[in-house]
Amino acid sequence: MKFSTEFRDSALAQKLLQDIRRKSTKPANIMEFCGGHTVAIFRYGLRELLPKHLKLLSGPGCPVCVTSTADLDKVMALAAIPGVVITTFGDLIKVPASYGSLDRARASGADIRTVYSTLDALDIARKNPNKKVVFVGIGFETTAPTVAAAILQAHAEKLDNFFVLSLHKVTPPVTKVLLDAGEIKIQGIIAPGHVSAIIGADAWKFIPERYGIACAVSGFEPLDILYCVDLIVDQIENGNPKVETAYSRVVKGEGNRVALSMLDRVFEPAAANWRGVGVIPASGLVIRPEFAAHDAEKEFDIKLDKPPREPAGCLCGEVIRAVKTPEECKLFRKVCTPENPVGPCMVSSEGSCAAYYHFAEAI
Ligand code: SF4
Repeated sequence: MKFSTEFRDSALAQKLLQDIRRKSTKPANIMEFCGGHTVAIFRYGLRELLPKHLKLLSGPGCPVCVTSTADLDKVMALAAIPGVVITTFGDLIKVPASYGSLDRARASGADIRTVYSTLDALDIARKNPNKKVVFVGIGFETTAPTVAAAILQAHAEKLDNFFVLSLHKVTPPVTKVLLDAGEIKIQGIIAPGHVSAIIGADAWKFIPERYGIACAVSGFEPLDILYCVDLIVDQIENGNPKVETAYSRVVKGEGNRVALSMLDRVFEPAAANWRGVGVIPASGLVIRPEFAAHDAEKEFDIKLDKPPREPAGCLCGEVIRAVKTPEECKLFRKVCTPENPVGPCMVSSEGSCAAYYHFAEAI
């Protein structure tokens, strides 16, 4: 197949669905780790097409959603420093922190700019030598290499007014924490496609080996996801959990060595604070001392005046851990909407609450 539309072929989708319906006899909870998968599953109505005993659950794979309120408060504190320019991807602007949002801070005069890539942020730093430009690094292993590249570039150019607040997170540790907690019984995991393109499908081997859970990596088109579910159903039915890939046009077993070595050069593992889960050792990426000149944590004495405050009534933590659905939140649709989001899961384009809001009624 050559074009992405070929991965939406309805005749092939019907064949895969027939195959799944014919083979699948055992009830199973299958968690899609990635928010991009959640959105695609809703967009193409895949939940409703699968047999009723196969339940797809949304997992923690939305980087904006899992950023803790305390970390968002740090971004707000940086935005309040005179002479600082905050650069960030658009999703973050409307996410509520404890005492406001970047959106509101910008309306009150803070210099906050939406960028489409780290190259834009570097450019802002070059054009504003009298300002300190901070890029807010939020994302998983997919985004982090581009941020590493920006830090290397700034380092090479001696661009001493460019900084990164690294709130990056890596995905296998949180998966282990959720599976160890066992709040919900999972029989299969749809592993993230873009993350696996970087870390490799082999990085998920602990899922079958340690937990006996079926696993396959998926792309983001409907045929990718149905093929992935088909592989997972095979593993469940045969009692033969392993890691397979339904996204071999992008994902290799060993991942992307160039990106991984760039990550390793610039970042080192550290504990990170995940919304709804807590602090997980070695699940974040901090900037190595060699590049401390571009580390916002080192450049600024970030102090929070008040303790973090979670949005009252928001169940984002439970939604992230797949123990509740957005529809179980009393605020969903009534108080919390994309125009007036209470929690991050309603803001982000990969958030479960936003996906339910936009697509659940249409199905
Ligand atoms: Fe939080 Fe809104 Fe989702 Fe409820 S609907 S969990 S308040 S983001």
